[in-house]
Amino acid sequence: MKQNTLKIYNTLSRKKEDFEALSPPHVGMYVCGPTVYGDAHLGHARPAITFDTVNRYLTHLGYKVRYVRNITDVGHLQGDADEGEDKIANKAKLEQLEPMEVAQQYTDSYHRDMEALNTWKPSIEPRATGHIPEQIALVQGILDEGLGYEVNGSVYFDVLKYNEKYQYGKLSGRVLEELMSGSRDLDGQGEKRNQVDFALWKNASPEHLMKWESPWGVGFPGWHLECTAMSSKYLGKQFDIHGGGMDLMFPHHECEIAQGNACNHQDPAKYWMHNNMITINGQKMGKSLGNFITLQELFTGKHNLLEQAYSPMTIRYFILTAHYRSTLDFSNDALKAAQKGYKKIINGLRIAKNLEYTSEGNEPLDENQVGQVEQSIANAFRAMDDDFNTAQAIGHIFNLLKKINSIYTGQLKSPIFGKEVFDKMISTYLVFVENILGLSEEKSDNQQGLLNVLLKLYTEAKTAKNYDKVDEIRSALKELGFVVKDMKDKIDWAYEE
Ligand code: ZN
Repeated sequence: MKQNTLKIYNTLSRKKEDFEALSPPHVGMYVCGPTVYGDAHLGHARPAITFDTVNRYLTHLGYKVRYVRNITDVGHLQGDADEGEDKIANKAKLEQLEPMEVAQQYTDSYHRDMEALNTWKPSIEPRATGHIPEQIALVQGILDEGLGYEVNGSVYFDVLKYNEKYQYGKLSGRVLEELMSGSRDLDGQGEKRNQVDFALWKNASPEHLMKWESPWGVGFPGWHLECTAMSSKYLGKQFDIHGGGMDLMFPHHECEIAQGNACNHQDPAKYWMHNNMITINGQKMGKSLGNFITLQELFTGKHNLLEQAYSPMTIRYFILTAHYRSTLDFSNDALKAAQKGYKKIINGLRIAKNLEYTSEGNEPLDENQVGQVEQSIANAFRAMDDDFNTAQAIGHIFNLLKKINSIYTGQLKSPIFGKEVFDKMISTYLVFVENILGLSEEKSDNQQGLLNVLLKLYTEAKTAKNYDKVDEIRSALKELGFVVKDMKDKIDWAYEE
């Protein structure tokens, strides 16, 4: 494992901290996954890509990452609160399906979209419904600690009691007194002693679709409980990194911390990471605002806000061009710019894979050029070490790409870098683009075959000095998004940028 200086911004301490794994080389990372009752949208893409990149970079540094991302298939109620209908059960009623059919359908479509975005699969992908006994045991543990209470078959977490010994609100920076005074206006508090209390177990009405036997009667778990149950089962009572979108910080993650401390007397995670939100044309994304865009709509261009389709790799690249803690605004102009950037990177990938070091010409070593390449390499890794700053890393990778392109076009000769630095430049570019940023070439199945045929015709026409034909083929390829490259000793092609 590489000795490194990785720094992570910890939401819990509100500062960048040196990353130290609890039991190196193993790293445990838990990320809150989707509630599977609808198609994956832009709001799913950012955490998935952010924590995929964290996983990829930690792996690159030599850590063995156990990445757990759950599937929420029960207990997440509409409005994210303790009252209302289960999101999955509601969808099941609307579509006249079994709740598990709904969960399966949207788990499958989520997997399809995540694969298109080239995210690595989590090491374990547990489901809430598969961990009911573990959740019941946690509720019992919290009751045993005197930090929960039962009312009419439901069990609630006693936030005030908890706060006597621990600090509720330390992750989100919320102050309990303010939370309580803010909730005074609400009509009644139902079964809860305090509005700030949250459900651990809910009593199920006879018509409720998903329910289980428990010591408190037939019911179902509260939304926050599953993550505590599954993270502690697979990663231990305390693990390294807990991730998720900023919107989950309160109440979801705050409640996870409270549950973890109540049961295990320690914070569940050492580092809490939160990706910032995305906006669309400057506005928050929301179903009521008409700017709710699913990933499939982006990939196909079928949404009235979209001027064209944007490929999965364009979306991935676009998300990586901002640091994960910055907001990111989706607009057609920004996405078109990202498409150009992505194609430049991929053209570079094709060139870098085929570029050979030639010692012809006896060019002497150029210390200045060597220094620039070494600086770009060091800076790219330094950016990733600084809280996974992909935005800056991409800038340094583009500096390497400039050198690679200059060698390709013959402006620079490879010997001026020396064999060692040349090889390091190529391998760094490939490792960064493919392994760390997770960008891959998107091509149709028959693309290469078609290009080979057309380039053969192009070469024949050129040899025969049939320049009308040459122009005709060149513009036909341009229509299809390719540029013919007349090299000194061969004909090559590139994506049009
Ligand atoms: Zn969660």
